[in-house]
Amino acid sequence: MSYHVTHYINGQYVLDNKRSQDITNPATGNVIGQVALADKLTVDSAVSAASAAFASWSATPATRRARIIFQFKALLDKHIDELAKLITQEHGKTLSDARGSIQRGIDVVEFVCGMPNLLKGGYAEDIATDVDSYTIRQPLGVCVGITPFNFPAMIPLWMFPMAIACGNTFVLKPSERDPSCAIRLVELAKEAGLPDGVLNVVQGDKEAVGALITHPDVKAVSFVGSTVIAEQIYKTGTAHGKRVQAFGGAKNHCVIMPDADLEQVTDALIGAAYGSAGERCMAISVAVTVGETLGDHLVKKLKSRVETLKIGPGEMNGVEMGPLVSAEHWERVKSYIDLGIKEGAELVVDGRDYKPQGHEKGFYMGGSLFDKVTPSMRIYKEEIFGPVLIVMRVPDLASALKLVNEHEYGNGTAIFTHDGLAARTFASKVQVGMVGINVPIPVPVAYQTFGGWKRSLFGDINMQGTDGMQFYTKIKTVTQRWPKDSKTIVEFTLPTMK
Ligand code: NAD
Repeated sequence: MSYHVTHYINGQYVLDNKRSQDITNPATGNVIGQVALADKLTVDSAVSAASAAFASWSATPATRRARIIFQFKALLDKHIDELAKLITQEHGKTLSDARGSIQRGIDVVEFVCGMPNLLKGGYAEDIATDVDSYTIRQPLGVCVGITPFNFPAMIPLWMFPMAIACGNTFVLKPSERDPSCAIRLVELAKEAGLPDGVLNVVQGDKEAVGALITHPDVKAVSFVGSTVIAEQIYKTGTAHGKRVQAFGGAKNHCVIMPDADLEQVTDALIGAAYGSAGERCMAISVAVTVGETLGDHLVKKLKSRVETLKIGPGEMNGVEMGPLVSAEHWERVKSYIDLGIKEGAELVVDGRDYKPQGHEKGFYMGGSLFDKVTPSMRIYKEEIFGPVLIVMRVPDLASALKLVNEHEYGNGTAIFTHDGLAARTFASKVQVGMVGINVPIPVPVAYQTFGGWKRSLFGDINMQGTDGMQFYTKIKTVTQRWPKDSKTIVEFTLPTMK
């Protein structure tokens, strides 16, 4: 049965039949619904609902706001399986992976429950005679979140709970490819007691995004998506006076030292490169072997594992990798594999023609493995965002570091070794925001902070942890004097706290 996903503004569904786009189940290739695409008028009504809700929501005590977030967390726990099904249906990833990603979102919601403690400022008594000073953190106003297709629950959950716990109101613009999860999240937030207008969803494409990031009443924009768009959002948003954090694409290297345990490395690479069909910004897409012989051993081990990946519909038990998100994305990934062959890389495993029996219409692709890739090849320089791992060989750790550091992206990286000094040197010198030591996907926990370097993040403040709170608040410093007598003085010099 086909369904229509629409906007949710001021606690109401908004019917909108002007423009829409198909929603496809990637496992079957069938169109299963349509999503409305907002125009400027719809965006205006969402921002004005959020603006109207701001006065009373920002004045609501932080503990009361946190209690609503706490109820929301409990509802997310209760509905995790239902949300995972929605994700698998529209994105394609396996149910267990979908559940795991929602849990990583819930972890941030749990952290946000402690927001009153983070929002309290600092107090300095007697900075001068009878003078005290204190800081307070205040919300910004209407904040906007624009999210990618690959984490329809997790990334929205990294944004709006933090923003609204700080006292802001929010407009979320989820990916048009898998829009249903966002609507379920706002329904649960309403059930948790969130007042109407505090959290709104507009569905849409670049027309909605353009209207949001230039809207005069929007104060801050959190964006996650591809680098080209992230950079545009950052430039346009900041030019319109907004605070912007724009998280972009990635090419994550895993450096394997000669002393690493190859069995462990192979397991780690298979999960990190092919999990979620490689559609993760923290997926490992480049394995860099150090030394003369390691590359051959690793490629041999990887080959047999990649050839036997269990691929099929994400809801099927035992499946390790689901389909790609869309036919268009499938073509894009395939074109990179074609390109790699043209560029002279050795295609050790070719996943292009793989179709699981009985599911031929889905957007499935087998795992692919390239060897003998060089730094000048486009399959190395560009993000493929699919189940394609490339292997490169370098003579020593210094060359591995140089390779990683010269890449334009700097989201995540990992090193596998038993050598503490090599690991320490790598962690210290690498120009990447999130580093794993014998950990292939080092996504930080909710109370740390998430963010890449170089062209993987435009803006200065990360998501999660105290950085998230800083992004969604501004600080005010108050200096106060309560004079004991009515004596007044005129001071023409700048006060120097005597
Ligand atoms: P995308 O850039 O195509 O879309 C992201 C969002 O931007 C969507 O909401 C989309 O509607 C909107 N958008 C698309 N084109 C636009 C345009 N021309 N103008 C304005 N808005 C536009 O990204 P995607 O394909 O949905 O997601 C995959 C990308 O996201 C990958 O590059 C991946 O690395 C990146 N990503 C990064 C992180 C991170 O934390 N750095 C996390 C997840 C995904």
